[in-house]
Amino acid sequence: MRPLTERDIRTSFVNCSKGETQRLGLPKDFPDLPWPDLDFLGWRDPGAPERAYLVAERGGRPTGLALRVTTGASRGFTSRSMCSLCLTTRTGGGVALMTARRTGEPGRQGNTVGQYLCADLSCPLYVRGTKQSVAGGGLDESLTTEEKIVRIEANLRAFLDKVTG
Ligand SMILES: [Zn+2]
Repeated sequence: MRPLTERDIRTSFVNCSKGETQRLGLPKDFPDLPWPDLDFLGWRDPGAPERAYLVAERGGRPTGLALRVTTGASRGFTSRSMCSLCLTTRTGGGVALMTARRTGEPGRQGNTVGQYLCADLSCPLYVRGTKQSVAGGGLDESLTTEEKIVRIEANLRAFLDKVTG
């Protein structure tokens, strides 16, 4: 994706208040992120671990989603969960259930969309092998990196559609 400025990020969010977008903590390694290797920018708020953010290009402009990380409901250290974006299976909390408030009227009525996502939202780096997961192990390692990137983009679009649809 194209590099984003802090202003791009703070003005991209579609499902949270302006106050929240002003307060959110940027990724620790911003702005030295590996932009060309990112299908989307995802991170946990350094100052509020239960909050996570995802910014993707959609229709040529950055679209951001604010997410809530569900902890408490953990199903034990050895249980396996699969990330719905990169389809990597992980144990030990490497994948977390995150919910996004829907936009518009459904969101005002409290509707959310829940997805299992890599807890650190580093899916683009896992898919490219530039970051190794501790627990490792994808489902279909026979896919090429290019095929995995196509799949991540399709899954990402479907997620954005569910939140904004
Ligand atoms: Zn993932």
